[in-house]
Amino acid sequence: MSADYATNPAVNTLRDYLRIRSVHPDVNYDECLTFLRSQAAAIGLPVQVFEVVPKKPVLVMTWEGLQPELCSVLLNSHMDVVPVFEKSWKHPPFAGEIVDGVIYGRGVQDMKSIAVQYLEAVRRLKNKGMRFKRTVHLSFVPDEEVGGAKGMAEFVKTDHYKNLRVGFALDEGIACSTEEYQVFNGERTIWHLNVICPGKSGHGSLLLPDTCGEKIRYIIDKFMDLRQVSKSRLENDPMLTIGDVTSINLTMISGGIQDNIVPEKMRATFDIRLATSEDLEAFENKIKQWCREAGAGVTYNFNQKDPYVPPTAVDTTNPYWIAFKSSADKLGIKLAVRTFPGGTDSRYIRATGTPALGFTPTHLTPSSLHEHDENLPVEQFLRGIEIYEEILPAVANV
Ligand code: ZN
Repeated sequence: MSADYATNPAVNTLRDYLRIRSVHPDVNYDECLTFLRSQAAAIGLPVQVFEVVPKKPVLVMTWEGLQPELCSVLLNSHMDVVPVFEKSWKHPPFAGEIVDGVIYGRGVQDMKSIAVQYLEAVRRLKNKGMRFKRTVHLSFVPDEEVGGAKGMAEFVKTDHYKNLRVGFALDEGIACSTEEYQVFNGERTIWHLNVICPGKSGHGSLLLPDTCGEKIRYIIDKFMDLRQVSKSRLENDPMLTIGDVTSINLTMISGGIQDNIVPEKMRATFDIRLATSEDLEAFENKIKQWCREAGAGVTYNFNQKDPYVPPTAVDTTNPYWIAFKSSADKLGIKLAVRTFPGGTDSRYIRATGTPALGFTPTHLTPSSLHEHDENLPVEQFLRGIEIYEEILPAVANV
């Protein structure tokens, strides 16, 4: 079985891409650019490279449509991958090894396979002599895995991006372990919040009033109580997924200088992902109220406070959705529409008012993104190309 794959050009392209160590920290994207330029040349697509932030290139390939005045379709992927604990891998993370029909490598799910599926689908459609109404752009962006601040977040602000005139975008989703394919039309809003509790400092043998420990306990209780509400909702309703509820985690606690001194300040940091149904203003007012109730001088600030981004419509008001859905129906694949549990570059595209769907054409496969021995069955990878061969003409002919 594996021997057959050795001569499969799509599989070999993926293995070549996996061998490029575009791994954090301090990613050097030069090799990715060289690889992608040669791909574009082989397919016959013009390439532009935009270095909006130095050393953080965005590469765009363009397949011009028959009516280039129409808005375009963007196929987005990120070039970077998360770090590895190499010793914990049974298969080398940057070798593109195939064992028993499964390909291993950092980024094979997240998301180099999808980049290669886009390329292969375009190559095949183009070789068949097909043309579509809309221009199709393929963007390869840096630094998604560190939040995209120097990647897509900056790129969407530029004239280079505006000149692409994107009307609809596809980006990464998550593999699904069941029969369904997941499609993500929105993301929760990310808030990273510090609550600072000042108090009376003094000797650790006394029972002083107004200590920061009492205040931080009140704050942690409030957040953990709310966390429990979300947890119970999730446990009691099988229809809900993690993307549907607000998640709260206490991620850092700091303060104190010595074990017998009551400190004058303590700080708790929370990672909060707000459900799309959450009223953000009301939520922040609740935090303000807890700070007041916790005691004198308690304040909060944000390390990250993302704005609310409306989800992409998945109904008849969105013709791209209709096209996407009807090609899925034609393929006989079942879609599950979900809210993405984490953050992807889609949110920057949606924030410009452009509809975007997160989609990974993989099912019956557990998600292994960011894990040791990240892997993808080769058959799933190859099937994914065929799925894009159906979806791409549909959305590019809207
Ligand atoms: Zn990713």
